[in-house]
Amino acid sequence: MSHEYKHVLAAVDLTEECNAVMDRAREIADRNGATFSLVHIVEPMAMAFGGDVPMDLSQLQQQQFDQAKEKLAALRAQYPATRFGDAHLVYGQPRQEIHQLATKEKCDLIVIGSHGRHGLALLLGSTANDVLHGAPCDVLAVRLKKPE
Ligand code: AMP
Repeated sequence: MSHEYKHVLAAVDLTEECNAVMDRAREIADRNGATFSLVHIVEPMAMAFGGDVPMDLSQLQQQQFDQAKEKLAALRAQYPATRFGDAHLVYGQPRQEIHQLATKEKCDLIVIGSHGRHGLALLLGSTANDVLHGAPCDVLAVRLKKPE
C-alpha cells in the first residue's frame, strides 16, 4: 500500500544550501498532493555564545529576526500559492520548535539538510540528528555537499 504525505515541512537555515532542501521537499509535496510549508528558527544569541554575554543583545536579536523574516519571505515567493501552507519564523531551539510546529500543523514529513560530517564536527552533532530524535513524524535528511 502506498503512503501519501499530506503536509511536508522543510526546515531552512536560510543559507544557499537550503534550496536543495526546499526543492526536495516541494517535489515530494507535489507528488503527494501535499501542503508545503517552510520553517526557520532564530536561535537566541545569548545561548549561541554560551549564555555569558554581558551586553544587551535585544537590538542585535531584533536585527537578526528582521533579516531572517526578509530572507524567508524571498524564499517563500519562489513557490506558487497553491498548496503552500505557511512560512513560519520561530524563535527558540531548532529541535524543540520544529517538533512543536510539526505537531501543531499536523505535518507528516520534516525535510532537513544533512552534511555527512566527519570527525569533530560529527561529535558536535548536527541539526538533522537532533531533529530526528523524538520527531513526531517521518524525517528526511537530504544529503548536502560536504563543507570544505
Ligand atoms: P546544520 O546541521 O546546523 O548544519 O544544519 C543542517 C540542516 O538543519 C539545514 O540544512 C536545515 O535544514 C536545518 N537547520 C539548521 N539550522 C536551522 C534553523 N535555524 N532553522 C531551521 N532549520 C535549520
